[in-house]
Amino acid sequence: MKVKEQGQQHILTVDIDEELLSSLLGFAAERGIEAAEIHGIGALRDFELGYYVLARKEYKRQKFSEIVELLSCSGNLAIREGKPFAHIHATVGFPDFRAMGGHLFSGIVAVTAEIAFRPLPERMDRAYDGRTGLYLLDLPVRKAP
Ligand code: ZN
Repeated sequence: MKVKEQGQQHILTVDIDEELLSSLLGFAAERGIEAAEIHGIGALRDFELGYYVLARKEYKRQKFSEIVELLSCSGNLAIREGKPFAHIHATVGFPDFRAMGGHLFSGIVAVTAEIAFRPLPERMDRAYDGRTGLYLLDLPVRKAP
């Protein structure tokens, strides 16, 4: 991984053959970052996408082995059950130019990934939400006007 500080942001390049989410979590751990906003582009292979089926409270998961363009990924980093957790969604492009996307469980960088990683000033936590079955961001409730 290569890193350049750009004001409040870090611009990262994740090297070929590295797993994208582990690399981002490793970077956050090294720097002691507990909350961040993440955006990026690049290329992936051997990735797994998910679609959350709310009625069953579980992810439909599918693995892909193709090399695809990582057209866009975005998400955030927060703390879940005491550990940093990267919640990232991805849109990927196939050789026939069709796009597909979903919740990114994992993906190996093919070529490169160029990531804008913006640390946020305060820690954010995820808490289990029984209604959805997911660990949602546990933010303060907005006060009614
Ligand atoms: Zn998701």
